[in-house]
Amino acid sequence: MDASVIIIGAGMAGLGCAERLMGSSKSVIVLEASSRVGGRVYTNRSSSMPIDLGAQWIHGDQGNPITALAKKFGIESLPFIHDTLYYPLSGQEPLHLNNDTIEEEFGSCLQKASLFASNASHDLSLKDAMAKVSPNFKNDTEKGIWDAQIIRTGLINAGDPWSISARHIQKGKSFEGSDRWFPDGYDQISQKLARGIDIRLNHSVFSITKIENGVMVDTNQGMFTAQKVVITVPLGILKGRVIEFNPSLPSSKLKAIQMLEMGVLNKTVMVFEDRFWPRTGHLMPPQSDSLLHKSFSCMESYHKPFLIGWSVGEKALELEKLSDVICSERALSTIRQMVGDTGENPIVFEASRWAADLYTYGSYSFVPVNASFDEYDVLSQPFESLHFAGEATNSDYPGTVHGAYLSGVREAERIAES
Ligand SMILES: Cc1cc2nc3c(=O)[nH]c(=O)nc-3n(C[C@H](O)[C@H](O)[C@H](O)COP(=O)(O)OP(=O)(O)OC[C@H]3O[C@@H](n4cnc5c(N)ncnc54)[C@H](O)[C@@H]3O)c2cc1C
Repeated sequence: MDASVIIIGAGMAGLGCAERLMGSSKSVIVLEASSRVGGRVYTNRSSSMPIDLGAQWIHGDQGNPITALAKKFGIESLPFIHDTLYYPLSGQEPLHLNNDTIEEEFGSCLQKASLFASNASHDLSLKDAMAKVSPNFKNDTEKGIWDAQIIRTGLINAGDPWSISARHIQKGKSFEGSDRWFPDGYDQISQKLARGIDIRLNHSVFSITKIENGVMVDTNQGMFTAQKVVITVPLGILKGRVIEFNPSLPSSKLKAIQMLEMGVLNKTVMVFEDRFWPRTGHLMPPQSDSLLHKSFSCMESYHKPFLIGWSVGEKALELEKLSDVICSERALSTIRQMVGDTGENPIVFEASRWAADLYTYGSYSFVPVNASFDEYDVLSQPFESLHFAGEATNSDYPGTVHGAYLSGVREAERIAES
């Protein structure tokens, strides 16, 4: 046997699992298809400053394991307040939407919508269920704010409001405290976590076969054997059947893979010489069907100021077909509609294209209409010598860095106890 345990994927789940197993008597090899560690924690360092094209925030810094890792590694993070300036119409004064108020007021509407869908004979989409519980709007601005909040919920879930299950919209847990971000890049966490672990980069796994007393893993660089294997590849890779399983995975797992959706959320990051927008969390333009970017996050640190444009679902897929130049033009035009045209142009521009990424085929999982959170639990169950980790196996915290990391730790503990 090459190792006691082979871990497939060096994202936060794989690294969390390897780090925890290293404290045990098990020997571990991590096989990673790409040329870097971190997976969807991805900091582009090709320009004058680090730019995160994957995960951005620690969501809720109290009790969050990523806060603990940042502290342990001495990595600086900054707080981020998610307040929004909503622009009802081009050229009009924006409205300040306080994040805590939104969370409370809109959260209770989401609860009502979820209850409505749960009591209905069939599941409804977030959009349809919200229409059932929507208040009477006094004017277009009130309606606009409501629609903007539904879109914001879609952005958080990496799905279009007409795809997301209303029954399950409020499931899952979150940590208390502020959100924080890393001005010098989120990948500092994955890089530091990876230290000392035997990671084989550019090793793409294409089949996993049961053998006597263990498992054989075939890669583009040869074969590896181990007593146990932990599979942490993204849901998009499982959906795409990139890896062949011999014997096949049980039908319950195949069904869960099919039922859950791999959402698409893309970022358009523009760095400017000087800030020309108000100092706030997010800018939200008047929403229209043609809009590529649904909102912009305003980022500021000791580096240059930058804006992150967010595209989700169908629009995120549309973005992937556009050239950088067109994508940048469309983002700038939306920003200028809100804050005016100061003639500023970005000095650095980067856009993510997660659906086309061969190692993820999407951004992160969500529960679509007619699926449920139970699918996450089915995905997390071990099958013979195979263990499963990754954000789409964590029904408490799916779609997050901490959820991925904790799922890796969970499987390490399961293996250590077996
Ligand atoms: C745009 C975007 C923004 C986000 N924002 C946030 C945020 O602000 N906060 C937050 O908490 N989370 C955020 N997330 C989600 C978070 O990044 C993920 O949930 C988390 O990083 C997933 O980790 P993972 O280990 O499960 O998967 P991954 O990080 O995808 O790791 C899986 C690894 O498997 C490898 N792999 C794939 N196929 C094979 C193969 N055949 N053989 C070998 N290796 C393979 C991949 O290359 C990858 O390295 C965001 C994600 C995206 C895309």
